[in-house]
Amino acid sequence: MADIAKRKEEAATTCICTGSTWANSCYPEEFEAEMNRVCPVHEFRALGRIFVARFSMSFNGWFDETARQAERDPKELERLLEIYRARHRSWLSARSAHLNQVGLEIQNDPKER
Ligand SMILES: [Zn+2]
Repeated sequence: MADIAKRKEEAATTCICTGSTWANSCYPEEFEAEMNRVCPVHEFRALGRIFVARFSMSFNGWFDETARQAERDPKELERLLEIYRARHRSWLSARSAHLNQVGLEIQNDPKER
């Protein structure tokens, strides 16, 4: 029992930010799920460098008419990327404002390089 509680405590302080993320324009909901996750350490979850895969149709769409009909608007991913970038900017400026207040130098997250 104590082990489980301890593990839960550790999980709550584990950073889930990532250095790179793939975003597929056919599956914007996958990127949306990633960008809506909250890092327990940083509050905002940094997705690092985002690699965007733009396909006019999903791979299955070449073979499967049903999958082709289920295609998403490719602009949906662009919209989500804009939201993510705006959130990232406001998080960065909020963080640097806070650090300036307490007189610390701004340190870059190594994962953002
Ligand atoms: Zn984090």
